[in-house]
This record gives sequence, C-alpha cells and structure tokens, in this order.
Amino acid sequence: MSTKHWTTAELDGVPLHPETLMMSYGYRPEWSEGAVKPPIFPASSYVFKTAEEGKEFFATAYGLREPGPDEPGGLIYGRINHPGLEILENRLCLWDGAETCAVFESGMAAITATFLTYLQPGDILLHSEPLYGGTDHFIHDVLHRFGVHSVGVPANADAATIRRALESAEGERLGMIYLESPANPTNAIADIAMFAEFADQYRLDARPVPLAVDNTFLGPVFQHPLKHGADLVLYSATKYIGGHSDAIAGACLGSSAMVEPVRAMRTFMGSMGNPWTSWLLLRSLETLQMRMTRQAENARVLADFLLTQPKVERVYYLGHIEESDPQYEVYRRQCTAAGAMISFDVVGGEAEAFRFLNALKVVKLAVSLGGTESLAQHPATMTHAGVPVAEQQRMGISSQLIRFSVGVEHPDDLCRDLTQALAAV
Ligand code: PLP
Repeated sequence: MSTKHWTTAELDGVPLHPETLMMSYGYRPEWSEGAVKPPIFPASSYVFKTAEEGKEFFATAYGLREPGPDEPGGLIYGRINHPGLEILENRLCLWDGAETCAVFESGMAAITATFLTYLQPGDILLHSEPLYGGTDHFIHDVLHRFGVHSVGVPANADAATIRRALESAEGERLGMIYLESPANPTNAIADIAMFAEFADQYRLDARPVPLAVDNTFLGPVFQHPLKHGADLVLYSATKYIGGHSDAIAGACLGSSAMVEPVRAMRTFMGSMGNPWTSWLLLRSLETLQMRMTRQAENARVLADFLLTQPKVERVYYLGHIEESDPQYEVYRRQCTAAGAMISFDVVGGEAEAFRFLNALKVVKLAVSLGGTESLAQHPATMTHAGVPVAEQQRMGISSQLIRFSVGVEHPDDLCRDLTQALAAV
C-alpha cells in the first residue's frame, strides 16, 4: 500500500520540519505489530486480494490509468516497488520539497536512467564541467556511441559563454541540461536559475528541455535545486544521505510528470534500491541534518586552518568565496551553508600530493565522500583518472589537488593529522 498519505506532516495545522518527520513520516507502527521502525520486507512478490485489484495495480504501474489523488498505488513486485522503498522515497521528498522521488541502486544508476529517459539520438546534452568521473565517462564513452552530442561549459560560466558553446555545438537540438553543483572536485557552483532560463529559451513546443542537477555535495540539507528552477534533482545517496560509507544508492526527485518516466526506466533496467539498502538509508535519514551540520562546522575550521598553511597553495571551499567574486551572489542565493567538501592544492605536484596522502593517520586515504569519517583522495589519478590530462588541467583538476571530505571527528584531531601530513610534503 502506498504510504505517502498515511502519516501527518503537521501539528495543529503547522507543518512539521523535515528533521522531525525523518523519524516517522510515511509509516505507522500498527502496520507491523507496533514496531517503532519499519521492518525489512525482502519479498519479491505481493499477493493481490482479487484479480481485479491486480489488474488495477498493473494499469496504474504501466500508466494505463490515472490513479485518484488519494488512491494508494498497490504493491506488485519487488522490482517495481516495495514498502521500504516507498517510505524512503516519501521521506526524501521532504528535504527538497519534491512531489515524488525514485530511489536507485546507485547514484550512477539514477544519473544514467535519467539520461536514457530524456535524451535521444541527435540531441545535444549541455553539461557543466567538471563532473564526477563516472558521469563524465558515461557521457563521453556511452552516450556518444548512441548519437547524443555533448558540450561542456565551466560550472560557473556566464550566459554569453553558454550561448557561444550552444551555437558551436554539433547536434540537432538541445535535449537536456545537466549540472553538478558544487562540482566534484573543484567546488565551482553553477547558477541554476540562469541555466533554467536557457532551458526555457531552447524548449520546443512539443519537447521541454529538462534541467537536472546533481546535488550530491550540498543536498539534501544545504541546497534545494527545484526551488531555483531545476526539473530534476539527482543524488549519489551513497554520500551524505547514507552517510556511513556502508551502502550504495542513488535518487532522482522532482514533479511526478518528470520523475515517473525515470521510474519507468528504472523498472525496466531493474535498478531500484533494494530492501536492505532502503532500510539502512531510512536509518541514516534520522541523523542526516545533525551529521551534515557537524561536518559543515568541522569543515569551516579545517578550511580556515588550511588557508594558513605554507605547504598549501590554494583552498577551494565555498565558505571562502569573497564578496567581489561573481560566485558569491550565486552562493548566497542558492546555498544555505558551505558544506563539508574542501579541495586544496599542495605545493608541488603529484609526488607531494602522494606524500601528504600517504602520511595521513586519522583521515583515511579513500575515494567517496559524505560519510561520518574524513576521507581524502587524489582526483587526477583516482576519481577523475578517466578524464584526459589536458581536460583535467582545463577544468582545474591539477596534479597537486587533494579532495577532502570532512567527517564528524573532533576538529582538533583532524587539524593535528593534517599538520603532521603536510610536514611530509
Ligand atoms: N555524483 C557525484 C557528485 C559523485 O561524487 C558520485 C560518486 O562519487 C556519483 C554521482 C556517483 O554515485 P554512486 O557512486 O553512488 O554511483
């Protein structure tokens, strides 16, 4: 049974905050013997009360009939939906103010299903740069093979640069705009509202141009792209949403009109979030706001510390954007905090960066981000190794660059670790 309409989201007519609703929304203990938390339902299939009910559930799932506004969709088969997935999707909607959400087996599964839903051969995909290495690879090595053209612009490009890039792009029509903001690993931010205007200008009557934003670095707590004109928000839920480096998942959120076709693609690709991952993420959501807040506080301390270090040449941190920088206004308008991702250039090159990474004792040398533990890695040879070196340099991914995901540890311990590791540079 669809869970969305079964729990109150307000008290005495006043809406409750998402952090309050993370403990209860979409679930009633009386459904499961009074259990405070939803159980895990590993069932692959669900029994229909009657054949007529099965027919209706399928008709709704295949879009053959419109369900009534309060009509719960039925459970059919674990590849289409399951209780844990539905409760998780309903809760995730609350942070972004989204109408609906589809949870996937990974962030890449969410991103690639979105591309495959909305792009056709001959289309141009306009995207920000840099992008997470896996997304970059899929665009250049897979989408190109299927006749989709792509054109990249710096995440912080101005309108004139974007227009020039579109005019010189090969392809028949603009099919989609894809942003990653803040960008992995440079923290460059894209002006979502400005890109939304482009999406509007280039829409053909029969075909809008969807604007999708990968909100992994700041969301879902510190940035809400739908409120700035995005049509779809994408996540690697492996990162802050999961938050403990023990689950891989992804999500796509937006209006029902935009997300349902992506959910249908998920059904046929078989990339839905599984019952165990859904349960883990529900657990993670309860502490999401606290974790992200603490991580952001720690990051502020560490970014300020890095700025004073002679072995650090440059720090890329949203909280350091100066008022004179055009990115400042976008940051203030779009983001409610600077988050916990810091990148920095150590003096020297790859050898010095490796010396620093190899000397870390508290911070772990590992890719991924957003977990409770601090992680550091070398994008040029690790997460972005697939991006050609010339492209890396153009995008600001230097051989000196370290990407640092700040965890919830005591900031003094992290500072001490960075101090001793920088001494090895
Ligand atoms: N988007 C960003 C910004 C990422 O950093 C990552 C992974 O690091 C992904 C998407 C892909 O997510 P996943 O690893 O969950 O497939």
